[in-house]
Amino acid sequence: MKLSLLIAVLGIGCCALASASEPVWMQDVNVLADDMMEGREVGSKGSKRSREYLMERYAEIGIEPLPALNDYSQPFSAIRKNKPLAGTNVVGQLKGALDRYIVVSAHYDHIGRKGRRIFNGADDNASGVAAMLYLAAQSQQSGRQCHQVFLASDAEEHGLLGARAFVSSDVVAAKSIFVNLNLDMLSQPGGRKEVLVSGNLSHPAFNCIIEDIELASNMPMIATDEKRRVGRYPSLADRRKVSDHAAFAEQGIPFLFLGVGRHNYYHTPRDTASRVNQSFYGETVRIAWQYLQKLDALCAKADGQP
Ligand SMILES: [Zn+2]
Repeated sequence: MKLSLLIAVLGIGCCALASASEPVWMQDVNVLADDMMEGREVGSKGSKRSREYLMERYAEIGIEPLPALNDYSQPFSAIRKNKPLAGTNVVGQLKGALDRYIVVSAHYDHIGRKGRRIFNGADDNASGVAAMLYLAAQSQQSGRQCHQVFLASDAEEHGLLGARAFVSSDVVAAKSIFVNLNLDMLSQPGGRKEVLVSGNLSHPAFNCIIEDIELASNMPMIATDEKRRVGRYPSLADRRKVSDHAAFAEQGIPFLFLGVGRHNYYHTPRDTASRVNQSFYGETVRIAWQYLQKLDALCAKADGQP
């Protein structure tokens, strides 16, 4: 990220926010979880500032707008608790040779502020968005076989509204989406260093991919779709429904969801960039990249068709 871009977006003259020695994903978390973004609640000024920053990053990486949209914005409206709600997804693509899509998603909205208390949402979900940007930059450099769409969704915290708007809009036909890779909360190990994976049963090849990455990364992967107790996680929450991937699952689209699950800072003003566990987060970002590469390989195989 260019420092000038950060300064322009935040409107500040000098900053102690980003250090050039930090990895790019951490620099993005620092910006998105800054107080200037005011917790990125849908429809807020902070949300607009986040979006402007994301669009600059998309352009910098070389992500193209979708042909069905004018630019990276996908505005949508919905009714939530009998009130109209207007949100805006940020979406674009990197083209591949094959006419199928992998949609990488991460919600950029969070729960805003209550008076002077700002809910910065560093883990939830600046961490997923920053990881997604890294994946896009890596993919831009190393290439891909299937098309990749990068969806920074809005209003997830209000019921996956941005993801549902994307899936139902047909800007990318649902039948041509091979898989959704959804990233939501990657930077806090909580009590235990492990990654929760949902969607392992949504495609016959996914359990294999998860095992391969677990072995290669030495990171425990807790596959959570089974209806039995998994590790320390009893099947209380159905993780197939907890984040944007559910909008894809509802259309019968295979999905993989990576996240850490609830932790002590979850939905509190203490979910700040300064509390990110940087070494753990570095591992999960690289793991997310492993997933995207393996999903692209699977997408390219004829028998990989959903
Ligand atoms: Zn979230």
